Order: sequence, then structure tokens, then C-alpha cells
Amino acid sequence: MEIDVKDPDSNIDVVILGGGLAGCALAIQLQQSIPDVEVSILEKRSLPFPDAAHKVGESTIEVGAHYFTSVLDLSHQLRTCKLEKLGLRYFFNNGQNAPISERLEFGQVYFPPIPSYNFDRGRMENLLVHECVLREIDYLGGCRVKSIDLDKDGHTVTYGRDGMTQTIRARWVVDASGRAGILKRKLVPCHRIGLVL
Ligand SMILES: Cc1cc2nc3c(=O)[nH]c(=O)nc-3n(C[C@H](O)[C@H](O)[C@H](O)COP(=O)(O)OP(=O)(O)OC[C@H]3O[C@@H](n4cnc5c(N)ncnc54)[C@H](O)[C@@H]3O)c2cc1C
Repeated sequence: MEIDVKDPDSNIDVVILGGGLAGCALAIQLQQSIPDVEVSILEKRSLPFPDAAHKVGESTIEVGAHYFTSVLDLSHQLRTCKLEKLGLRYFFNNGQNAPISERLEFGQVYFPPIPSYNFDRGRMENLLVHECVLREIDYLGGCRVKSIDLDKDGHTVTYGRDGMTQTIRARWVVDASGRAGILKRKLVPCHRIGLVL
């Protein structure tokens, strides 16, 4: 397989492994704090993601809602994929299995002062990717990370894309690959953390 080293002598600032919720949010926050920062995100799935929820995790708690709307300042952008939650609600069946809209309902009447949201996960992730692209963050879909070489002069990440093997070098590597735990698997022997590969 061909090895294509883009620019072996230059490091970008940060490479993020995984372009899900955490990876995109971090890239946006970094770009907000340091506008000149060079960030690349490597995501194994191809874009766009399916609209309907294709992953678990479709609601935020209050602190997550605060992070997306106030810290990342994405309130306006998120309006099409979120629905404000009205707290915990109970629906009593009163001995019959009536449609939920006809059942006795118990819960808050007013929205809480600190909001939390339900959202469509696919739309939410597509929106975050779109936001990254608008901010000129280098979002590379269809890239499966294969290995990482950590080095004090710059870390090298090797990934596969379109049947080619490519590398990217960065001063910082952030593992946002979720349960794949790419860096964790590299740094901690699997038998010690009970992972089955
Ligand atoms: C049953 C269940 C219910 C949940 N409910 C909620 C909820 O209601 N609200 C909530 O906030 N959270 C919920 N969670 C947790 C939520 O799903 C996770 O916290 C969230 O998905 C984490 O986001 P992430 O970006 O860290 O990881 P992920 O969303 O998993 O993103 C990781 C990304 O890395 C990519 N990736 C993986 N391996 C590679 C590789 N080798 N190369 C390149 N890319 C790679 C993946 O394709 C993926 O896009 C729930 C979890 C479970 C299991």
C-alpha cells in the first residue's frame, strides 16, 4: 500500500481523532479561543451523516445545553435540531393502553429557567461539521486512523482514506474517538483495561 507523507517536516497544531460530538465541539472551541490555530479532524465515517439518530445520546443535560448554546454560542444554529425539555414527565395508563396524548399526565407546566434539550443526533452532528467547515477547520471524513507515533518533536498519525495510507503530523493529538479509545488502547495494554479488540 502506498504511503503518502504530505509534508513530513511541518506540524499542524492539533489533530483530533474522531469527528463526533466531542471532536467537533473541541475544534470549534479551540478556534474560538485561538483563531489562528491549525486543527485537523480525522473521522472514519463519510459525510453527510444520516439525519435520523444513528447513535445513542439524543438529549443534553443542563450543563451540556449551556456548553453548546453559551460557550460555543451555537444557539441560533441549533434551533432546527433541538427541542426544549420540560423535565421529567409521567404518563399514567389508568388501566387502559390509550395513546399517550390521551393519558393522565403529571409533570412541570413551566419550562425550567435553565434549559436542556432533546435533539436529533444526526442533524446535530452534521450541523457541527458544517460549523467546523465554515470556520476553516480541516474536517476529513472517510479517514480511519490506523496508528499513532508519539514523539516530543511532533506526533505522527497514520490513517487510511480512499484505499491510500496517509500521515499527518501535529504538536498535539486529541483522542475523541469515543469508545474506540484509540490512544487508550495504544498506551494501556488491553488486558489491563479489559478491552476485547
Ligand atoms: C445507551 C446510551 C444512551 C446515551 N444517552 C445519552 C444522552 O441522552 N445524552 C448524552 O449526552 N449522552 C448520552 N450517551 C453518551 C453519548 O452517546 C456519548 O457521550 C457521546 O456519543 C460521546 O461523544 P464522543 O464525540 O465522545 O464520541 P462519539 O460520538 O462516539 O464519536 C467518536 C467518533 O470517532 C470516530 N472514530 C472511531 N474510531 C475511529 C478511527 N479509528 N478513526 C477515525 N475516527 C474514528 C467515530 O466514527 C465517531 O464519529 C448515551 C450513551 C449510551 C451508551
